Amino acid sequence: MAFCVLAVFRLSVKGESLMATYGWLFDPKRCIDCKACEAACKQWNGVETGIDVRYRRVRAVERGEFPQVSVQYLSLSCNHCEAATCLRVCPTKAIFRRQDGIVLIQEETCVGCGLCAKFCPYQAMQLNWQRRKMEKCTMCSPRIDAGLPPACTTVCPTRALMWGEWDQIKDQGVDQVENFSPPMLTKPAIRFVTTEWKG
Ligand code: SF4
Ligand code: SF4
Ligand code: SF4
Repeated sequence: MAFCVLAVFRLSVKGESLMATYGWLFDPKRCIDCKACEAACKQWNGVETGIDVRYRRVRAVERGEFPQVSVQYLSLSCNHCEAATCLRVCPTKAIFRRQDGIVLIQEETCVGCGLCAKFCPYQAMQLNWQRRKMEKCTMCSPRIDAGLPPACTTVCPTRALMWGEWDQIKDQGVDQVENFSPPMLTKPAIRFVTTEWKG
């Protein structure tokens, strides 16, 4: 699999890639695992209840060794990567990128084969078994088109999860934290706050 991922990466750096217009800014120190972001996402996107499809997932990862143990929370979704491997491998070309960089799935064309999920380093792709279609975060593109921010970011009580113009985010914080896959492969539109946010 590592060889295949490398091959796709080589294709992607040669191929067309549109710059991100929007991106995420996440501060793990501020996340309290309340999962309001997950709930708002499910509700706004009308994701069925009773199936484990979550476009946004809050992960709790234990760190250190007893008695010096701590928990790190990461609220992650699709990162609308600049060099999206999912888009490159889809055999039916169901995955596409808008002019503003948002990566979307064309539902009618998706055959639910699952290949994109295997090539996403961030487990963003979610197979809806009821409909046999792949789904993922759309960055709430209909809301963005209406001048509104993504639903998940509007409910975060601690401002751990933020969203905005990528130009204003891309130089803040760092591009990788522990338990986040290396960004050099797909160039995800997310940064992590390690110092106070200036925005
Ligand atoms: S996070 Fe995964 S699903 Fe989203 S654009 Fe990147 S590779 Fe594709
Ligand atoms: S941007 Fe919208 S679809 Fe994406 S995780 Fe947030 S609420 Fe869900
Ligand atoms: S709403 Fe904010 S604080 Fe709560 S789990 Fe999501 S990112 Fe963390």
